[in-house]
Amino acid sequence: MSESKNFIEEIIDSDLQSGKVTQVYTRFPPEPNGYLHIGHAKSLCINFGMKAKYGGKCNLRFDDTNPSKEDAEYVESIKSDIKWLGFTWDKLLFASDYFDIMFDCAVKLIKKGLAYVSDETAEEIRQRRGTLYEAGTESPFRNRSVEENLKLFYEMRDGVYPDGAKVLRAKIDMASPNLNMRDPVIYRVLHATHHNTGDKWCVYPMYDFAHPIEDAHEGITHSICTLEFEDHRPLYDWVVRECEFPEPLPQQIEFARLNVTNTIMSKRYLKKLVDEGKVMGWDDPRMPTLSGIRRRGYPAEAIRDFCERIGVSKANSEVQESYLQSCVRDNLNRTANRVMAVFDPLKVTLTNYRGNEELSVENNSNAETLTFRKVPFSGEIYIDRSDFALVPPPKYYRLKPDGYVRLKGAYIIHCDEAVTDGDGRVTELRCSVVPNSKSGEDVSGIKVKGVIQWVDAATCIDAEVRKLQSLLTDAVDGVTDFNERFNPDSMQVVPAKVERSLLSAKAEDRFQFMRVGYYVLDRDSTPDKPIFNEIVSLKDSFNPAK
Ligand code: ATP
Ligand code: MG
Repeated sequence: MSESKNFIEEIIDSDLQSGKVTQVYTRFPPEPNGYLHIGHAKSLCINFGMKAKYGGKCNLRFDDTNPSKEDAEYVESIKSDIKWLGFTWDKLLFASDYFDIMFDCAVKLIKKGLAYVSDETAEEIRQRRGTLYEAGTESPFRNRSVEENLKLFYEMRDGVYPDGAKVLRAKIDMASPNLNMRDPVIYRVLHATHHNTGDKWCVYPMYDFAHPIEDAHEGITHSICTLEFEDHRPLYDWVVRECEFPEPLPQQIEFARLNVTNTIMSKRYLKKLVDEGKVMGWDDPRMPTLSGIRRRGYPAEAIRDFCERIGVSKANSEVQESYLQSCVRDNLNRTANRVMAVFDPLKVTLTNYRGNEELSVENNSNAETLTFRKVPFSGEIYIDRSDFALVPPPKYYRLKPDGYVRLKGAYIIHCDEAVTDGDGRVTELRCSVVPNSKSGEDVSGIKVKGVIQWVDAATCIDAEVRKLQSLLTDAVDGVTDFNERFNPDSMQVVPAKVERSLLSAKAEDRFQFMRVGYYVLDRDSTPDKPIFNEIVSLKDSFNPAK
């Protein structure tokens, strides 16, 4: 990895050097209205990454200022996903814990003549707001006295007015070139039960007012968010300044959000898939949510690695899905044990083998320490039908009539006879084991180029395997609606015969099915029927030049 710094680190370095900041303090502020997805992983890696790099702190703060869409289920899932990714927050906070403070800040602004109660409807406010080329028109309520504003604001809080009847607006500048500065609404009346504060409040702060107050109150030094908030930064600065928070005031820094090809990054649409039953839930292994990705078998370490490799930038772009998969593959190549599975079984009778033994087979030759497992072997096995050719093409190194192949971790076998049915379809192979050819002790003198996987017919287990594809079909020009790109065939369930050692696998254990791909044991498995999800294929389709 290069030592070059990203632009956020450059800002932090200079703040530390100038003495503006002595300890770096960041926060991750999810809205609990859905599960976290791979895009959030990037924000998590940046915020918690700064904590790690600078010996700082990072809070987890639930941005629950919007009472109607939020749910305690989401709070719990977000906490567990962050822990799974490997991060530990300093304080766990809720924006709703600050409702009293925010209310006091609003009162302070009113007293300073910097906020007023308006009776305008949302539509009237919009109409008077002006455009990018034209100044807005001042509200007819803009010059209410401080006393009147205070009285009305308290009445709003006390439930005197119905939803939408009155709002509190910051009094800034209706001619500002930045539309966000044209007297933005900072409080609204909303008679809704909040998951945290219940019915205590019927006025709620707007995000642009709440967020800077939360940051300033917690002593956040660098408030890192995505580019859409760039135009909101003057308002952010205005709020922390006018509410008179102590120095150093938090500083908002924007970065480009993560987009991945064929990947849905909208919580709203992901929720729709869940609600409509198009997936098995938020943690369906096809979902780009962190809990889906986890169930899919992507290791947390691979996701952190991916976020590190794509870097942080100020320009929006789209990362190829295959790049993420390639990070996962790199990780699994080091960490996943190899096992044997056969998807399309072809019975092989080893006519000269009478024994019944337990072979010791290496788990992963790439691992730092070599480990072995026991694999039963007897006179009847299954190989994959695709590893036998009745009429082999040139340079075919797998099994063919009168040919040799090595069974992984076992013996070299010779194909003596292919038994076919009336249609010419091969139903069984009759083979003989080459004497003295056992793996590791081979003195047979026979050289073979092909090594294939197999399972012992007597002891193998029937498993179910979910072959997974993206929930979206490739983007076609002009088709932007996810509904039209939904891939109805994203999950295909197929049977497989797997080696007996997998009976002791636990949910989330990951394996390489030798020569096939990487698979993870799903928690839907039963003691006698393991279910595996496909993680990634063995072959890398990522092309950096593309
Ligand atoms: P939605 O609009 O779907 O609710 P959101 O982006 O508003 O999603 P939040 O829960 O508010 O979701 O996000 C928490 C944090 O994660 C924010 O700081 C946000 O900027 C960041 N984040 C969300 N999506 C991405 C993404 N695709 N790439 C990087 N950061 C993201
Ligand atoms: Mg949001």
